[in-house]
Amino acid sequence: MPKTDILIVGSGISGLFFAIKTARKRPDLSICIMTKEMASNTNTQLAQGGIAVVTNHLKDSFEQHIKDTLKSGAGLCDEEIVKMVIQQAPERLEELIELGASFDKNQEGQWDLGLEGGHSQHRILHHKDSSGLEIEKKLLSIITQTANIELLENHQVIELNTETTKRNEVNCTGAFFYDKNNNAIKYILTRAIVLSTGGCGQLFENTTNPAIATGDGIAMAARAGVEIEDMQYMQFHPTALSSGNKNPLFLISEAVRGFGAYIVNYEHKRFLFKYDLRGELATRDIVSRAISIEMLETQKKHVYLDCRHLDQADFFKHFPSISAHCNAIGLYPEKDLVPIVPAAHYQCGGIKVDRNGVTTIKNLYAIGECARTGLHGKNRLASNSLLEALVFAHQASKNIDKTIAAFIFSSKILLPKFSTVNIKNNYEPYLILKKELQKLITSFYASNDRDSHLAMLKIKMLKNEAENLIDRNEITIPFIEFSNMLTTALIIIKQCQPEKTHSC
Ligand SMILES: Cc1cc2nc3c(=O)[nH]c(=O)nc-3n(C[C@H](O)[C@H](O)[C@H](O)COP(=O)(O)OP(=O)(O)OC[C@H]3O[C@@H](n4cnc5c(N)ncnc54)[C@H](O)[C@@H]3O)c2cc1C
Repeated sequence: MPKTDILIVGSGISGLFFAIKTARKRPDLSICIMTKEMASNTNTQLAQGGIAVVTNHLKDSFEQHIKDTLKSGAGLCDEEIVKMVIQQAPERLEELIELGASFDKNQEGQWDLGLEGGHSQHRILHHKDSSGLEIEKKLLSIITQTANIELLENHQVIELNTETTKRNEVNCTGAFFYDKNNNAIKYILTRAIVLSTGGCGQLFENTTNPAIATGDGIAMAARAGVEIEDMQYMQFHPTALSSGNKNPLFLISEAVRGFGAYIVNYEHKRFLFKYDLRGELATRDIVSRAISIEMLETQKKHVYLDCRHLDQADFFKHFPSISAHCNAIGLYPEKDLVPIVPAAHYQCGGIKVDRNGVTTIKNLYAIGECARTGLHGKNRLASNSLLEALVFAHQASKNIDKTIAAFIFSSKILLPKFSTVNIKNNYEPYLILKKELQKLITSFYASNDRDSHLAMLKIKMLKNEAENLIDRNEITIPFIEFSNMLTTALIIIKQCQPEKTHSC
């Protein structure tokens, strides 16, 4: 039976950074990263704007970054966590740079710091408009050169195994996974598991998240009995490029507004000052809500980003990928208005963890977007999530020595829960069900008068429909993934109940 000291699920910034840090300090440990598609297929590689870190202490300060984060989180952040993350940021940034990631500098050789909504200072380090790609590439290249890390692509983790001890403690002892390369379901024994599975944007019709963002980590953790919190706070990004039924939608970074772009309505008029004195530079929740109201009132399908007044050479220098993407579909930001809509972008809640990424089950950690750390509250401040991923990967890596020392591999023989069945993988029928689910969650989330009971009933009906698609002796991977989406959707609906929230 395959064995590894630490199993990491997911190959985004959090999983990779954790793996490298842990492998370097503990060459005696075996570390395995499983990722369900190509390793680079992550939310991380799509990050454009960059990473928020206080580097210029003459103009900026930790206190200001903390204040901005707390304000954006609207009273629901954990202040101690906010302080920890922001104060650690320079050290983690230095480590990231030491691992090869590069960030732009200005002509004076200083960091070229970007500004984004909700930030009172320029403090976003970026690599042009493809910061995530730069980070993902550099981390992956180190991973492949590290002897005690095994990276398994096309390996989808489908279930966590837990065991209850005599003292009634629940331990996580291994995981079932689907090896897509060999069309086989297998089991791996571990001494600790780190979930770094990203978010669940794919539950919504309009999203910036790639197809991998189906909430697998949330669903698996919930099935294992781990606490999940604040899933009612889904962040919508105000400026996704409106392009029909495309999924995912291409993101136009917040940094474009920070650079001076306006948001205008069908009459080409700016309207955001009606909603917030900061106008285009208000936080994402405020700007997204204002755009949605404007779209509803004018009965239009989108509003526009207006970049026509900006210095075009400088715009192109800062945003080459965004310019190229627009040009490829016949849009020229120097002369055209760019149609935009809000899109589901970031899951602020998730698997409840402490300051070390430890979940409510022993031997199980969660880091990155799948974790609810207390940093974001109701609304994540722009460019704080790459930072959170680095800090919590570091914290978990520091803490895991204790876990590993206290735990040997389980000796229980595991029942072959999945291995006797046929594995079939026809995605087609699930695409239709997925669209229905996306429609359901989108309209539920947007409604002012949510009927949770009805929404839960509809989820149950979708579950029945999905179950009818499979034979009792079959297992289909699309069914497992779709079931994860249904489980996550149900958690969102339950956590959206009025007593749990006033703003989602
Ligand atoms: C378009 C876009 C732009 C963004 N821009 C910024 C930005 O400028 N600054 C910022 O701070 N944040 C930004 N974000 C958010 C940020 O990119 C993410 O929050 C962050 O990258 C998440 O990293 P992660 O390590 O948690 O997970 P991800 O990078 O999402 O990786 C998740 C990994 O888990 C794997 N996985 C999932 N389920 C399974 C399973 N069952 N089995 C095996 N593997 C699995 C996936 O395949 C993937 O490898 C942006 C997000 C998007 C979508």
